[in-house]
Amino acid sequence: MATITKDEALVSKLRRKLLDWYDLHGRDLPWRHGARDPYRVWLSEVMLQQTTTAHAAPYFLRFLELWPTVGDLAAAEDGRVMAAWAGLGYYARARRLLNCARAVVREHHGQFPDNEADLLKLPGFGPYTAAAVAAIAFDRPANVVDGNIERVMARLYAIDKPLPAGRSEVREAAAGWLSPERAGDWPQAMMDLANGVCRPKAPLCHACPVSEACTALAQGQPDYFPVKAAKIAKPKRYGVVFITTDGESVIVERRPDSGLLGGMLGLPHTEWRDKPWQGNEVVRLFDLNYAVAGVYKHVFTHFALTQEVWVARTSTETLEGVLRQHNRYEALSLLAPRALPTVFAKGLGFLTHP
Ligand code: SF4
Repeated sequence: MATITKDEALVSKLRRKLLDWYDLHGRDLPWRHGARDPYRVWLSEVMLQQTTTAHAAPYFLRFLELWPTVGDLAAAEDGRVMAAWAGLGYYARARRLLNCARAVVREHHGQFPDNEADLLKLPGFGPYTAAAVAAIAFDRPANVVDGNIERVMARLYAIDKPLPAGRSEVREAAAGWLSPERAGDWPQAMMDLANGVCRPKAPLCHACPVSEACTALAQGQPDYFPVKAAKIAKPKRYGVVFITTDGESVIVERRPDSGLLGGMLGLPHTEWRDKPWQGNEVVRLFDLNYAVAGVYKHVFTHFALTQEVWVARTSTETLEGVLRQHNRYEALSLLAPRALPTVFAKGLGFLTHP
């Protein structure tokens, strides 16, 4: 087990060195522009959970354009927010985002609380988000530890207890570096170090401002850390998705508010079950003739889906007749596939790129 010792003088020196490095090499990210507005910090942090900065950036700018303040977001129509979120994945986050914006307006007069303990009481705020907003927006010396900072700490202290069990040691190590001085810059400097220097593979230790304190480097095996517990394979599920189109629109449905992809638009599909569907088991939707266009895979957090794509090309008249008969369905323009979560947008891709 690693020993977390704190050499105050060394930590203080390297802390300053890393912040100097950050001033020169910090990334230019859209949420870092302008004043540190807690709404912007929170929005970016929620979007960045499970999403890369490059992928999240256009969504962040779009959200700010549509809803410049937390009050604007709180007043937004659910469906519009879900549609704007489509493509970012992990859709429960969009629902929690709305719930939280409304709680901030209802319970805090539209102002985010300025400390970790009160932030933590907001819906959708976990320890990480509360610490990140407290630090970055309010300059509090909160212990922000995401997967990237975890990697740096595991290496600095050669923490060999496999994660996630080793997280308490990692947090203890990270806490030793906190200081009120530039408290908001600190986690961002650490994240940039993790992103550009202390990379998952082949870290650039020669360019690292904190290498003097790095036990993993001293041991000659920096990328051995962090040690991760063996992954358990995700269960497999199988489904058939129905694309019913007149060439201009496709039939979609609003999914129930709770459950996977809750409240999002989706293409109709069979149950996602643990064995493949045989053609004769699938009930043809709307009594139309569907042809198999292909098959694709999509990985969710808890399972891996293999989905067959069935396509029915109909006239506009037939499509409108179907919608009149079945009022839980609606038409979505084929020019707006971004309103669909990725698992369905992939299916729609078979119309143009089989
Ligand atoms: Fe990471 Fe290398 Fe720096 Fe250690 S010396 S913190 S392994 S980049």
